[in-house]
Formats: sequence, C-alpha cells, structure tokens
Amino acid sequence: MKRYNQHHLKIYNSLSGKKEEFEPLSEGQIGLYVCGPTVYNKVHLGNLRTFLSFDIVTRYLRHLEYSVRYVRNITDVGHLEQDADSGEDRISKKARLESVEPMQIVQRYTVDFHQMLNLLNCLPPDIEPSATGHIIEQIETVKQIIDKGLAYEVNGSVYFDVLKYNETNNYGILSGRNLEDLIHNSRRLDGQQDKKNPQDFALWKKAEPEHIMRWPSPWGDGFPGWHVECTTMSTKYLGAQFDIHGGGMDLKFPHHECEIAQSEACGQHEPVKYWLHANMLTLNGQKMAKSTGNNILPEEVFSGSNPILTKAYTPSVVRFFMLQAHYRSVLDFSDDALLASEKGFLKLMTAFALLKQLPTSLKSTGFDLMDWTTRGYQALNDDFNTPILIAELFSAVKYIHQVNEGIESISQTDKTDLESQMSFFILDILGLEPNTVELKNNPLKKVVQILIALRNEARLNKDFALSDKIRDQLLEAGVQLKDGKDGTDFTVV
Ligand code: AMP
Ligand code: ZN
Repeated sequence: MKRYNQHHLKIYNSLSGKKEEFEPLSEGQIGLYVCGPTVYNKVHLGNLRTFLSFDIVTRYLRHLEYSVRYVRNITDVGHLEQDADSGEDRISKKARLESVEPMQIVQRYTVDFHQMLNLLNCLPPDIEPSATGHIIEQIETVKQIIDKGLAYEVNGSVYFDVLKYNETNNYGILSGRNLEDLIHNSRRLDGQQDKKNPQDFALWKKAEPEHIMRWPSPWGDGFPGWHVECTTMSTKYLGAQFDIHGGGMDLKFPHHECEIAQSEACGQHEPVKYWLHANMLTLNGQKMAKSTGNNILPEEVFSGSNPILTKAYTPSVVRFFMLQAHYRSVLDFSDDALLASEKGFLKLMTAFALLKQLPTSLKSTGFDLMDWTTRGYQALNDDFNTPILIAELFSAVKYIHQVNEGIESISQTDKTDLESQMSFFILDILGLEPNTVELKNNPLKKVVQILIALRNEARLNKDFALSDKIRDQLLEAGVQLKDGKDGTDFTVV
C-alpha cells in the first residue's frame, strides 16, 4: 500500500526534460546514487549546496515512508585536471605539491567534507564507497565493455568507442548533445593521440613511471577513468537499474552521459529511471569552483572571516538561505542575501517556539490547518519545492502572531497538530536546527555575553592567558567568538 502522499510526488527528470509522476522500480523502495566529491581540497559552499539538495530529497522520500538506500561515493582517484583524459590526477598533484602520500590528501579532505556536511545537518549516506576501494570491480566493468566490442586498448590504456556505441545507442541522450556537432567542434588535445576519436573517453589509463596511484590490470599498471567508478559502484550497490541518480548540473556532460553509455554498453538497459541535477551556487554571478578560486569556504561563513562578509552566520542560517531557492534554480551568494535569510530564519524559529506557549480557545479562527498542510505537501510534491514550502511556513508564522495578539484563536487540537506538522516540515524535512536560535533568545545568551565582557577585561589587563582560555573553552563548549569592529559577537558551532 502506498502512503497517501506517495501518490502525488512529481520530480523533474533531466532525461525527459519534464516533471514526471514518481514511480519507483519496486514498490516502497528507492535506490538513490549521488556523485560525491573529489577529495583534493576543502569543500566550498557550492559543493555543499548540491549535497544539501539531495539531503532534502532523501529526507522527504523517507518522510513519505519509502525505504531509501542512499549511496554517495568518494572520488579518490581518476579525476584528472579539467575533467579531461589527460593531465595530472587532482589528488596526485596535490600530494606532489605538499610532498605527502595521496591517501593523506584523501583522508584530510574526506574528514573536512564529513565535518562540514555534519555542521550543515546533512544526514550521511547509507553507503559511501570510494573509487580506490573498488579497483577490481572497475577492471571487471572495463573488461565487460571490451568484450561487447565497445572499447579498445591502446598502449596500456583503454578507451570507450563512442562512435561505435552511437551506431546502436544514443550518445547525448541525457545532455541533448549531438555527436555530429561534438565531432565538428572538437579538436585533438595533446596526450590524446591514442584515441581513435577525440570523443572517446578513458576507461583505464596507463600509469606513467612517475604516477604514484597505480594498480595492476590486464593492460598493465594504471588507474581507472573518472566515469567508470560511478557506473561500477552504483551497479554494485543498487543493481543494474535503479531509481534516482543525482549530482550537480555541471556533471551532466560528460560525466553522466558517459555513465549511461558505460552501463548500456555492459548490456544493461537504461541504468537510471530519474536523473536529477542540482543547479549552481554562484559568487559575483560566476559559478563557485575550486579550480578558479571563485569560492567561499563554509568555515569562512561560520566564522565571518571573509572580506565580503559583515558578520558570521550559523550553519542553520546558511542551510535556510540555500533552501529559500529551488534546487533547480541558480542561487547567488552574498552578504545581503545571508542577512535577509538570518532575519527570516529567526522570525520562523521564534514563531515556532512561540506556538508552544500560545493560549488556546474552544475553536480556531482565521486559519485552515488542513488546507495549509495540503499546500505544504503540494510544494514538496512539486519537485521538492522548498521556497514555496517556506512561504507556507511564513503564513503559519503570521497566524501564530495573530493568535498571540488575540486577533485570531487556536483550539488545543489544532495547536497540537500545527506543532507536529511544523516540526515535520521544519525539523525533519528541511533539517533546520533550532538550538542556535534558542541560545540567541534564552538566558544562556546573557551568560555568553558576561564571559565576553570578562574576556575583554582580561585583555585590557593584558592577561592574554586568561582571555585566550575563555575563548578556547567557549569554543570547546561549541560557542565561537568573533571579534569585529563593533565588538565581539558569537556563533554556535
Ligand atoms: P567535485 O568535488 O568538483 O566533483 O564536486 C562535487 C559536487 O559539487 C558535484 O556534484 C558538483 O556538481 C557540485 N558542485 C561543484 N560546484 C558547484 C557549485 N558552484 N554549485 C553547486 N554545486 C556545485
Ligand atoms: Zn559520478
């Protein structure tokens, strides 16, 4: 039996370019795969936005009582510079620059990735496979594609034969690209002499003698191509066909297009029923990216230590800011936008806390709880439309204030129901955490301010040991001080 709301979910499928009724391959169960980060650098806010988008998808599907198996990989080998088939491996390059083991780089940035997602209250996936942990399986995938006659070996590397594949399949089915145009517009790059055609992509690359990350294979020592890991690991953990594949918009081509080609070449049918692509977070109107340096790190926002910021913002405010935009829209990051989100977030959470204290009457006036609840679910069922849900939450905020001011009334049953429905929407589905706000509004805020004053006194007396001790111990307790031109503020981390 489907739950009532499961009947109504529509999601935008990038494969068809349309919103489609959601129907999982097997009733009640969902296989979800999301491309994870390449762990050669700290995650920036843009990366986090994509993972947050899929956190909402997972949370909502679970709220609808689907049993979801969420797989998100860690790319720790094979992703070369410029997403190309030549150039240095991103992780090896960083390891070389810092004179450390590649696995030290992987470990350091995987830890950073987890910490930041945890701060943003994104739930962990059920399985988090890494590319280096699945080399044998990837070699098997490459062998299968060779056996089907759709890949060829040259000089210790193996390439996917895109032209041959396209004779019977459609390379470009996802991105809408046309192979003729691709051929027309591409030129042969250095280091690609081995390919029959520039469109062909690497399934396995020969490791040059200086290349550290290398594994034995039937074609000699080498390492897997970037696209083959996702095909291999999604198939291993979710089966040859699964329900949802997600990632950022920038992965649609070539990464996801190549994933489809590889899976189909292995003899499967379309591997994925619904392809979901999250749109980009921009800064100064340009995509946030690690490679260009046009990005902001989450820690800079949580501490306020970036020149474009006037203050620090809590992870919940950042989360709220991102959820105020639909996941398929571009979102531009700015201090003004964050200030506005902070105001909105505080308003929402204050009203949510106030709801618990509202006096009740015999009956409710001025608010149709059933209608409101339906509209909230309609928003989520319409391709996870969080901004519309947030607008609905603000109509509840307005009502709560009206009851508080005695303009409207609420019955005890409606109060209990509104509280539980708001808590589903705000806490469970949007994943917003109230604690940071509670601290801002409760007596503990005063306690922190007293400690800040004591620290200032210590600093005036040049007792820096004491002032640092206060700062460090507060941080240990989860309160981070931030010194600015208007004095010292704090955030809860
Ligand atoms: P990467 O570590 O570069 O492989 O990226 C990890 C994820 O972040 C991918 O799903 C990308 O599509 C996504 N991503 C990268 N830049 C942005 C951005 N500016 N906004 C949103 N998502 C992004
Ligand atoms: Zn991937």
